[in-house]
Amino acid sequence: MGALETCNFDLHCHSTISDGVLAPAEIVRRAAANGVTVLALTDHDELDGLGEAAQAAAADGIRFVPGVEISVTWAELTIHIVGLGIDPANAALGAHLAHLRASRGRRAERIAAEFDGLGIAGTLQGAYGYAENPKLIGRAHFARFLVDCGVARDVASVFRHYLVRGKPAYVPQQWADLADAVAWIRASGGRAVVAHPGRYQLSREELRRFLAEFKAAGGEGIEVVTGSHSPDQYATFARLAREFDFLASRGSDFHGPEESHVDLGRLPPLPADLRPVWHDW
Ligand code: AMP
Ligand code: MN
Ligand code: MN
Ligand code: MN
Repeated sequence: MGALETCNFDLHCHSTISDGVLAPAEIVRRAAANGVTVLALTDHDELDGLGEAAQAAAADGIRFVPGVEISVTWAELTIHIVGLGIDPANAALGAHLAHLRASRGRRAERIAAEFDGLGIAGTLQGAYGYAENPKLIGRAHFARFLVDCGVARDVASVFRHYLVRGKPAYVPQQWADLADAVAWIRASGGRAVVAHPGRYQLSREELRRFLAEFKAAGGEGIEVVTGSHSPDQYATFARLAREFDFLASRGSDFHGPEESHVDLGRLPPLPADLRPVWHDW
């Protein structure tokens, strides 16, 4: 690899294999056009896009890192753990993710039943119409359908009014156990990183307890610079990375040109004193 300062790492994004709006090869092409030199595709609970993305990356001359973003439940909160450098052919990881995807299918039926109860019919079929990969259904697919039906102005307002905790179409879900998700990632050769740690409804104390547990389970890194953090949060999580001796990651969490305010690779650099998650790649 060339000098580090010429590298642009984006280690978190989504394709149509989960809830992104661009196909894996289109993500890679856009990343390359934006100057990304090392890209990880990290679809939710699904590895099916990694082959196409790797091929496209080889053709576009950028380095590809196979990734995943695993849904975890910790203290009744949903937390996302990114796995970087996992083996897409790892059978155990694949089986555990298939189990999570099946639970998404059952959740989708319950979400649709809640919408039925609100007098908004047809959302299950509607949401699947927006899921290019029917094995992976998520709230974003419901949200896009409802926007196109005119029920809400944009995806963010569907979440705000219906799909988040406390709102009428929210359905609680038991995802993977934190230690299990970290173990699956590690057993498949990957490195576990906390996705957008600033986005969870955790008190400062709970956040530290969570980070300590994650570290004890074998977690190695946290995202510091992500599309989900404000500049203030870059500083907060840089401090926590130093304090807990975590590797630091950088990723846009890009889902699509209209829905994401941060495009692939268009992020500030990590604070120079942090050890990046790619330090030994
Ligand atoms: P799910 O894993 O199906 O519960 O959906 C989580 C996904 O929904 C996230 O990865 C985002 O893509 C999207 N999402 C979550 N909260 C919001 C929000 N407030 N506004 C827009 N999209 C959101
Ligand atoms: Mn998503
Ligand atoms: Mn996430
Ligand atoms: Mn994500």
